[in-house]
Amino acid sequence: MNIILLGPPGAGKGTQAQRLVAERAMVQLSTGDMLRAAVKAGTPVGLQAKAVMESGALVSDEIVSGIIGEMLDTLGADTGVIFDGFPRTAAQADALDGLLATRGRTLDHVVELEVDEAALIERIVGRYTCAKCGEGYHDRFKLPKVAGVCDVCGSTEFKRRPDDNADTVRTRMAEYRAKTAPILPIYEARGLVQRVDGMADIDVVSRAIAAVLDGVAG
Ligand SMILES: [Zn+2]
Repeated sequence: MNIILLGPPGAGKGTQAQRLVAERAMVQLSTGDMLRAAVKAGTPVGLQAKAVMESGALVSDEIVSGIIGEMLDTLGADTGVIFDGFPRTAAQADALDGLLATRGRTLDHVVELEVDEAALIERIVGRYTCAKCGEGYHDRFKLPKVAGVCDVCGSTEFKRRPDDNADTVRTRMAEYRAKTAPILPIYEARGLVQRVDGMADIDVVSRAIAAVLDGVAG
């Protein structure tokens, strides 16, 4: 089982990937993490990547592919893989096909966690935490039982993260769409893309992803 997991910030992609890793013994190949690990481990491709990064240039598709190949070669044939952050371009999508094919693997699913932008903004902009104990609250969905007093520790000080605002959410959504726009049509054409409602409860999302992976979803 080899899948690509896509989702904008706030869709819970990290949590869902962790669950797949824990429950299905899949391995998450996150390009950024792998690159750092390969550089640190001093693998042949890692050394190339290091030289490129030190020169200030962007790491090429070839190097990224090389690192993914190195990682795939360390996995057992039946270990499932979740690709995260790769591919980003049509050329990388081609490269991924080659990397998988030469190892007897195929790409089974592209799962996209969908979010409703307006609902996501409401969810993120309304959240705040107790400044003392860190308990999370929300203007609409989870108010303290006594207004202005933390349920847990009784503190009356609360704080909001400065980047929890509508503009930041819109910018991140736009970045996400720009990053996925080159590859989604490729996989759509191959009938591989399945969408899951990322706004649902975490467990509901997990079940929906499981249904896709187990082939019981439409
Ligand atoms: Zn508190």
